[in-house]
Amino acid sequence: MVGAEPPAGNAENSVCLKQCASDNKIESCAVLDQFCAMRIVTSVTAMQSLAKRWKSQRVPVALVPTMGYLHEGHLSLIRRARQSIGRQGQVVVSIYVNPTQFGPNEDLARYPRDVNRDKRLCRVAGVDVLLIPDDAQMYPAKAETAYSTYVVEQALSQGMEGSARPAHFQGVTTVVAKLFNLVLPDIAVFGAKDFQQAAVVQRMTRDLNYPVKIILAPTRREKDGLALSSRNAYLSSQERRQAAVLWRALQRARQAVRKSRVVPAARLTAQVQRLIAKEPAARVDYIAFIDPVTLQPCPRVSAGTHLVLAVFIGKTRLIDNARL
Ligand code: AMP
Repeated sequence: MVGAEPPAGNAENSVCLKQCASDNKIESCAVLDQFCAMRIVTSVTAMQSLAKRWKSQRVPVALVPTMGYLHEGHLSLIRRARQSIGRQGQVVVSIYVNPTQFGPNEDLARYPRDVNRDKRLCRVAGVDVLLIPDDAQMYPAKAETAYSTYVVEQALSQGMEGSARPAHFQGVTTVVAKLFNLVLPDIAVFGAKDFQQAAVVQRMTRDLNYPVKIILAPTRREKDGLALSSRNAYLSSQERRQAAVLWRALQRARQAVRKSRVVPAARLTAQVQRLIAKEPAARVDYIAFIDPVTLQPCPRVSAGTHLVLAVFIGKTRLIDNARL
């Protein structure tokens, strides 16, 4: 099923679009072609047909995978996708809160959602196709034929988020592989905010021979340095103020490296820990100084070492990272 929203305030178009949608003829709907730059696709088979048609017509395609509740960070990825694929290309944004990347005690059920707002933001951002599949299509299962196929990256997904959230990256690589198969993109844009995720996806793309160029876009931040995140919506105003400590921790480590050039990771970890502990709602989950390519821990920290952090602010778990 393919659905579309009519252009605002036009009853005639609205009726026409509804009729086209119910007849499943939306791809040939003149009103849609004329007024609605953005298609909303909810069916995985419809998405695959569209992608195959683009391939046969040599139309370049860029994909921006998201879990929705969009913010300026996501929008910067969409702009980057457009810039890379050009005006003639198709920019596809997926919104899917992927259950397989959440652990049993994580926030899947309460993950923030506002699809109508997301649709408006995507439309204004010039997205061509918004893909919103549901669980039944992404993970088809019947009584005797449960969903049973997963993609596992075995090296870069081991530490940090991989240790803290055991099945997380298996869920991420599986859903990204599925999205690649549905959208057949030439380019996919990911945020540096999820540094380990981007590295794992990049490795999976290479190892499985996906003909997809992975683009990494910089982290967008609030004025006080807090990285934009859909999960920031969970923070109370007091917690929100304290959450900027992640950014201050990254800055503190940067200053230390600038000053001393080489610093033992254990010493810098203790410094960063002390800084974070000053905020009453903050509790460190992990602090890792790593090589940005291998993601292996660096015992000695210097310029180019990557600092990756996961910190609970109250009950909300936030992550951030920076190259030192
Ligand atoms: P999410 O919806 O949180 O799964 O994120 C979807 C994509 O947006 C991922 O590639 C994230 O890394 C990226 N992203 C999330 N927050 C930011 C941010 N503050 N700046 C840039 N990209 C981001």
